[in-house]
Parts: sequence; structure tokens; C-alpha cells
Amino acid sequence: MKRIKIKDLLAHGEVGAKVTVKGWIRTFRSNRFIALNDGSTINNLQAVVDFENTDEDLLKRLTTSAAVAIEGEVVESQGKGQSIEIVVEKIEILGDADPDEYPLQPKRHSLEFLREKAHLRPRTQVMSAVYRVRNALAYGIHKFFNEKGFLYMHTPIITGSDAEGAGEMFRVTNFDPLNPPKTEDGEVDYKEDFFGKAVNLSVSGQLEAEVGAMSMGEVYTFGPTFRAENSNTSRHLAEFWMIEPEMAFYDLDDNMDLAEEMIKYLIDFAMEQCPDDLKFLDQRYAQEQKGKPQNERSDLGLLERLDFVSKNDFERLTYTEAIEVLKRSKPFKKGKFKYDVDWGIDLQSEHERYLVEKEYKKPVILTDYPKDIKSFYMKQNDDGKTVRAMDVLFPGIGEIIGGSQREESYDKLLTRMNEMGVPQEELWWYLELRKFGTAPHSGFGLGFERIVLFVTGMGNIRDVIPFPRAPKSAEF
Ligand code: ATP
Ligand code: MN
Repeated sequence: MKRIKIKDLLAHGEVGAKVTVKGWIRTFRSNRFIALNDGSTINNLQAVVDFENTDEDLLKRLTTSAAVAIEGEVVESQGKGQSIEIVVEKIEILGDADPDEYPLQPKRHSLEFLREKAHLRPRTQVMSAVYRVRNALAYGIHKFFNEKGFLYMHTPIITGSDAEGAGEMFRVTNFDPLNPPKTEDGEVDYKEDFFGKAVNLSVSGQLEAEVGAMSMGEVYTFGPTFRAENSNTSRHLAEFWMIEPEMAFYDLDDNMDLAEEMIKYLIDFAMEQCPDDLKFLDQRYAQEQKGKPQNERSDLGLLERLDFVSKNDFERLTYTEAIEVLKRSKPFKKGKFKYDVDWGIDLQSEHERYLVEKEYKKPVILTDYPKDIKSFYMKQNDDGKTVRAMDVLFPGIGEIIGGSQREESYDKLLTRMNEMGVPQEELWWYLELRKFGTAPHSGFGLGFERIVLFVTGMGNIRDVIPFPRAPKSAEF
């Protein structure tokens, strides 16, 4: 008999049909009721065992996380919460899970504990829900951009340029670490290395994506990104996924419009694709909020917040305006911010969160940052002080998107590169884009795990990627 997935069975199963299902046992109660899950949905299928006519040894092997194949008849469910269940006719154990050794109990484990069991944590409701939402968001990204006529572009993962990530890149080499070739000065001689030069893992595909934009018009990348920044925060990973659209003929307003439209589309798409998972995560979120001090609690539930963000315009203001707002704020006047506020500072997460969570109570897009705290490629404003940057700030997270209109003037870009010590020999090709048919263009980077964090309501970025990579942490 052909296997049917539990999601399809629960949605379309007809009473009286004979079916085969396969999955892992979540729980087995009263020697009678198996809650079976196969990962296709958060909902379990109840399979009712006729224990009087079942071999006792077999019953003992029906333990949490054992893999089984079950044949049975679909019947109307007696229990609440599900419309159908199956009466077991034949049960085969595909793989035992010795209850004395299996580390996860059918109870709530801490997320920290589950991180140490990354190979088993997708068997829990919370993690499987997160991974399904993650999948929907990834699909939604490709769908959104393809519907808009953007081309998906693969930019290199190994890069010869360190212009963007100076100091926080992972070196890629196939030298023997104990005995690398040396130059006469005693330094490692990367000319002898695989690529004939020093190369690193990419911190961003933007510079190459600009090549795509300046020929194909509108492109996006969606790939792994690596940063060796030693920031052990709940929002940073050493390996994460980034979405980077890059568009010819877009100015900063067009760029902001696209970013806002994309985020709203993704939220709506996840709600449409994963209603059951999000309902579960909404309840988990509510429970978690209860445990927090009053002033840290979110006013809205998870689903309410998703709905709110999808239906309301983001607040847009300049960096300079934001500094004024912060200086007028209560926490500033009362000295409650840990970091000082003054024009020119790089906003800290506490400042960003104040703007989003207290002042405007919605996502905020800040623009026109001081040029000295932003990258060399951002378009310079006429004031000589600021650049056409934009950061999208989100509740609970802070920065979710960083982007800008790109400098299209060859001379201005070259001058800025020299001022900032960015080697032009390395980026000659990037400069040439400004020499041959330059045009206004813009783009941004969305950290994929940060949007997954927001949509799932999870608190730590290590819980929204299957195998997190962070300082001192690369098990699995
Ligand atoms: P942050 O200030 O939060 O470190 P950033 O300014 O370094 O961010 P960008 O270089 O603009 O970020 O990268 C674009 C986006 O990539 C960010 O808005 C964020 O969503 C995401 N991002 C950046 N660094 C990380 C990281 N270490 N882990 C996960 N996502 C990240
Ligand atoms: Mn950073």
C-alpha cells in the first residue's frame, strides 16, 4: 500500500479508507494511543492500537521517537482536536528508540538543551514548526522576486576581495597549516596557494550582484554568508543566509519601497502557508512573554504583530531626525541608555529598539547616515556629511535590512575608496562599472535568519537555523 503523508491524510483522508503511514512516535499513552508525526505537519495523527490482540513485546517497543510503519483504517475521531484517526491493523517497527537512552522526553525542554541535540531537535514541535516556517520564507523569497521579474544570481562564496569585511573574514586555503610556503620576509606566501592569492569566504554578494544589476537590470542573491565577528549575541551567526537584491535605475525611495513590499509579502506568505505552525508558535510566544518582566513584554501577540506589520506603513525618517528623537527621549534624559547619543555615533541596538518599540511602535526605516560609519560604496549626499543609506529596524531584533543607493560617479567613488583605504587594484572591475554605462542603482541585504526570528517569534538566532555556527560552536 502506498504511503500517505500525515498532512495529506489529515486534510483529505476519507473515513473507511485503508492507508499506510510512516513516522516517529511522539507519545504512546494507555497502551493504546499512538501520536504519530512524520514532519509534514505539526499535527500528529492518532493511531489506535488494539492492545489486547497485539504482541506484548511489540507494545513495549512503541516508545517516543521509534520509527514505525502503520497500516490501518481511517475512522472518525472520538477525541477532540482532530477529525480523523486510524485504527491500527498492522504495525512494523522500522527503528527502535531505547527509552533509557533517548535524550528527549515528551515534555518541554529548554531551547539551550535542544541546541546540544541539534540532530534530534527537529523531532520536537517547536523546532519542526520553525523549520517549516523557514522553508516557507525561503520559497516566498524566490516567489516574490520571480513574480517581479528579478533574476536569481549566484555570486561566489570564495572571494578574492576583502574590501567589505576587513578583519572579520574566514581565510580559505589548502596550505599545510604547519608548513606553508614562506616569502623571503618570512610571511605566508599566498602566491603559492590554490588560487595564487589570499582568498576568503564571502561576507556579502553585493559587489558581484551590482554586476548583475548593471546588465540584467534587477537581480537578487540568496546564499550563505560568513562573518568571523566575535559577537556572541542572540542576533549574530558566523554562518548565515542573506538575500541581496540589486536594481538598476532604483533610487533610495524605490529601494525602501521594495524592501517594505518584500517583507510584507513574506509575512503574508508565511501566514498563508503555515497557519498551524504559526498558531503553535503564537501560543509558545504568549507563554514566554508571561515569564518576562512587565516592561519587556510585547504588547502584541505573535500573530497580531505579524498582521500589524503586514498592514501598516513603516515609519521613515533620517538618521539626523532619529538622533533628535533619541535626545528628547526619556531614557536619554534619565541616563538610561548604556551608550551615549550624539550625531555621528553608530546607533546601538538599545537605540534602535527604543525607536521601534517605544517611539513609533512599528518598523522604522532610517536613512541618510553619516558617511564615516557606512561603507565606501554608498551614494554621497550633497551635504558632504551623509550617504544614501537605509537600515530597516524591527521590534525585538533591531536591524533586519541594511542597504543603500550606490555611488554611481566614478570620481566620487574613487576618491572615497582612497580616503577609506579600500584598494582599487582589487576592485578595478567594480570601478569599471562606473566607467562604462553607469546609472543610478540601489540594493540591500536582508539577513534571512533575522526575518525567520521575527516571523517565528523565537528569541535566539541559533534556534532558527538547523545547525548554527557561532564562536566556539560548530558541532554537527
Ligand atoms: P549588525 O549591525 O546587526 O551586525 P550589519 O550592519 O553588520 O548588522 P550588514 O552588513 O548591513 O549588517 O548586513 C545586512 C544584513 O545581514 C543585516 O541587516 C542583518 O539582517 C544580517 N546580518 C548581518 N550580520 C549578521 C550575522 N552575523 N548573523 C546573522 N545575520 C546578520
Ligand atoms: Mn555586523
